[in-house]
Amino acid sequence: AKTRGRSRYEFFDVELRERVQRQLRLEQDLREAVVDGQLWMAYQPVVDLRTCRTVAVEGLMRWHHPTHGAISPVEFIPLAEESDLINLIGDYMLRTTTEEIASRRAARDLDTRLTVNLSARQLDDAALVPTVEEALRRTGLPPRTLCLEITESALMRDPEAAGEVLSALRALGVRLAIDDFGTGYSSLAQLWRLPLDTLKIDRSFVAGIGRPGKSEAEAIIRGIVTMAHSMGLTVIAEGVETDEQIEVLRELNCDQAQGYRFGKPMSAEELFPSLPG
Ligand code: C2E
Ligand code: CA
Ligand code: CA
Ligand code: CA
Repeated sequence: AKTRGRSRYEFFDVELRERVQRQLRLEQDLREAVVDGQLWMAYQPVVDLRTCRTVAVEGLMRWHHPTHGAISPVEFIPLAEESDLINLIGDYMLRTTTEEIASRRAARDLDTRLTVNLSARQLDDAALVPTVEEALRRTGLPPRTLCLEITESALMRDPEAAGEVLSALRALGVRLAIDDFGTGYSSLAQLWRLPLDTLKIDRSFVAGIGRPGKSEAEAIIRGIVTMAHSMGLTVIAEGVETDEQIEVLRELNCDQAQGYRFGKPMSAEELFPSLPG
């Protein structure tokens, strides 16, 4: 038993070392990825539950690594957040998404809005507000068609400081959304002071619809929708994969939804194929 314990310990040790080494390598690689054009933006449709129309697309970052292939943002965004890379990557993201969506809106007269993710570290960056302003100015995207998503946990780190940045962003005319709502234990009292337009219900609650214990998931969603609507917020449900979830979300008065059932994240070209000529 003793030797088994030890070998298991050594196994974990090797595994840990390999994980740390991979992270260090990836951090270096990520620096090159921005310059090298290995990053690209995928877009997932956001659908109005009443009209079934795509009202917006969410920009989600993708990294095609030259040797490791596709690396998930769940892995590389936290890495970037540990260094200043997140600001470089965030600039790339804002520039690319506003350009890609503004040009497609113009080419086919679409009113599809754009929503993108901001990380906690970007909120601390003094250059954020001018960067957003510049992206809007350069692309001519009307400010009201851009929404910035910030996770509940990023907002709750320092709600007062976050509130100031959000107000400055709001003054540009952009919309603001709280992302992954329900996972960060924030209270209504902390939220209602923030200048928010939209609340996105975390997909863990949506996944509870149609499963054992679903009545609890549905009760929680009902509560969130009621609260959000009383605050004047639009509610989006994330991670919708089944028709049953769509039905229940409609009954629960949820406004919009996104998820694999409506469309997976895809390139701008796949989502809006080039017009002939
Ligand atoms: P998120 O903002 O909550 O994005 C939704 C995630 O759920 C995406 O994962 C999306 O592909 C996935 N998803 C969409 N529909 C479904 C579904 O029906 N079922 C399931 N199981 N999953 C679904 P993705 O693209 O891997 O992104 C993960 C997270 O990485 C995002 O979570 C966001 O927090 C972060 N992220 C992605 N792109 C960016 C970015 O450009 N900047 C920053 N700061 N963070 C980003
Ligand atoms: Ca998001
Ligand atoms: Ca989310
Ligand atoms: Ca998430």
